[in-house]
Amino acid sequence: MGKILLVTPHWGPLFSGRVRRYNRRFLPLDLLNCAALLRNHGHVVSIVDGRCKPESLTQIEHDYDWCFFTLSPLDRWQCPNTDFEHLAPILEPFVKERLVIMGAQPTLAPELLLNKTGAHAAILGEPEMAVLALAQGGVPGETPGTALLEEGVLKKGPKGVDLDLATLPMPAFDLIDFADYRYEVLGKNMGLLELTRGCPWSCGYCLLSMYPKKYRRKSVAQMVTEIQHAQSLGMESAYFQDLEFTLDAEFIIEFCEAMMAAGVKLRWACQTRPDTVNQRLLEIMYKAGCELIQFGVESGVQRVVDLTDKRQTLPQVEIAIDLAHQVGMRTLCYFLLGIPGELPEEMEETLRFAQHLKPTYASFQPATPYPDTPFYEEQHFKNTFPEVFNGALNSNELRALARKFTLKFHLNPGYLWRRTVRGGLKGAMTELGLLYNYIRA
Ligand code: SF4
Repeated sequence: MGKILLVTPHWGPLFSGRVRRYNRRFLPLDLLNCAALLRNHGHVVSIVDGRCKPESLTQIEHDYDWCFFTLSPLDRWQCPNTDFEHLAPILEPFVKERLVIMGAQPTLAPELLLNKTGAHAAILGEPEMAVLALAQGGVPGETPGTALLEEGVLKKGPKGVDLDLATLPMPAFDLIDFADYRYEVLGKNMGLLELTRGCPWSCGYCLLSMYPKKYRRKSVAQMVTEIQHAQSLGMESAYFQDLEFTLDAEFIIEFCEAMMAAGVKLRWACQTRPDTVNQRLLEIMYKAGCELIQFGVESGVQRVVDLTDKRQTLPQVEIAIDLAHQVGMRTLCYFLLGIPGELPEEMEETLRFAQHLKPTYASFQPATPYPDTPFYEEQHFKNTFPEVFNGALNSNELRALARKFTLKFHLNPGYLWRRTVRGGLKGAMTELGLLYNYIRA
């Protein structure tokens, strides 16, 4: 039996870093999964979440047998923060011989991150089974899904063991306080949930290195019980972190019907592909509490969408957003700027398409090149973690464009009027507050 500490650091203010990343306060669900598995094996576990309580990082007692430190919890597996200079003072007091780093960044560049952090070992890929194996006495560098530096040379164990979501114990929700978590566009006391893990597509920009190829899911009964348990501990709203929530529409209908049959009342949100929704599905999701649905639209130009190999069409996007609004949901659309091969005038067209779609919210971000993605492999970068792709605009120009589009979209009088009418003055003020934080960053 060991004393295990699980940590996630903070990354600065609400919007920070080179790409003005939104440092949302979501709970570290993968750490709660690890905690549940560890406790089932008799370990004593505590969690320090620096994202919601930065001061807690300075109050740690470094008497653990192992500290597992994630650089990107589950909600950041696809878009990890790479402003590493921020980490050095946080990591300084940790006992490096008992420190194991994990998350997308060490998975992509274990040697670089082991050198940068001084950690004893790294976990590569999804963490749950490797954390348990190391706590149970596994040897770093030999245990599946782990690596370490031996005399400066990277030594890796075999490929990690995939987590079986269906046999995962209840996440250790009792180790966190839901009151610490909120999502500005959904509400307070927010939980993070996961019904499925994985995605069968491979879009050019999308980082999937933390996800084994196999698509896995929990059972409907397991998920409903999990929600009821989390609600008994104070959860009032939830975000489903599934990569593409409606990938299997019939399964989601079954889940929503089970929620309603069990009398679960929950406000929730999810993200998905526009081409995987239909009216019946959205109606049932809305009845089951889904208030907000997020779509990856990427570009307002079909040629550019096709470059990403996303295999969705602009008419499919228009239909999905119209249907979501018709059933009563709010929508958030994500747009990328600086996709390899994209022309400046096509980026301008993306703003026009966003204004035409009229989603409730729109996010414009420079596309980030992550190692191990198809686009990254096509370009030759000097840095392991570059800011943007080589293309028509440089990083400063793309950041400026993203900012200009964000302001043009959200400060448009028609938009503000729609938001006030549909969301009420309080909702509009909350959203303006979020925009203010973005502008200040
Ligand atoms: S469908 Fe979504 S999660 Fe899957 S590869 Fe494409 S962007 Fe990534």
